[in-house]
Amino acid sequence: MMNQYCVCGSQQRFSKCCEPLLKEVQPAITPEQLMRSRYSAYSLGGYGEYLLKTWFAPMASDLSAEELSKSDTEWLSLTVLGSGTSGNSGWVEFKAVYRDNQRSVEMHEKSVFTLQGNRWFYIGGEVSRNQI
Ligand SMILES: [Zn+2]
Repeated sequence: MMNQYCVCGSQQRFSKCCEPLLKEVQPAITPEQLMRSRYSAYSLGGYGEYLLKTWFAPMASDLSAEELSKSDTEWLSLTVLGSGTSGNSGWVEFKAVYRDNQRSVEMHEKSVFTLQGNRWFYIGGEVSRNQI
């Protein structure tokens, strides 16, 4: 894994991209970084604890780290379309493609984030899906 490109599609090495975030060596500086690391967490599997910790707690009360650690979805690609911040709010718009029963599904999401005590948290997103 050390010398491989990060699954988030950044064209950077995993060790210089999402790995330090997933291992909680450093926090996400921007909502986009957080979003990319969360995509990597889903893609790689086993990072339910991280997904839970980076979720705005009031929105994650029904979720468990065990459930979130499952990697039963095959994620194929991530394309970030845009992102921005305004005070303590942030957003990221992206498209992610995954495999579902031999078909590829493109998920289009506009996620919103909140900055709390110097850390970004995922609140939720508006999602639409298309078979491609
Ligand atoms: Zn990455």
